[in-house]
Amino acid sequence: MVDHRLARRHLINEYRRGRLRIDQVCDAHPELIRAARNVGSESRSTCPICQETKLKLITYVFGSRLPSHGRCVSTAKELAALNGRSDDLTAYVVEACVECRWHHLLRVIPVGGKKGRRAV
Ligand SMILES: [Zn+2]
Repeated sequence: MVDHRLARRHLINEYRRGRLRIDQVCDAHPELIRAARNVGSESRSTCPICQETKLKLITYVFGSRLPSHGRCVSTAKELAALNGRSDDLTAYVVEACVECRWHHLLRVIPVGGKKGRRAV
């Protein structure tokens, strides 16, 4: 499991120090914001940039026999089904703010595959 918290903290610090403009850190694709709004699950953390709202978490799964842009997974059941597949898949958990369009990759998690099923 790869953690992206350090990169995230770095970006936020750079923004707070004025080295990055808001449009450089808040540039989520409209598709991502739409997914966040419709199927995103609410995170416990407040947006680090605008501090206006709670962040949304969106999970995309990539792998063979999945769309090239990934499949947006909105339920634990759906993720469990993908985890039961024998293909090696990768889930990307992204946080996004529907107010200011901040977004960041939080975690990359291996899903499915023959090398033992992991609880996700
Ligand atoms: Zn925000």
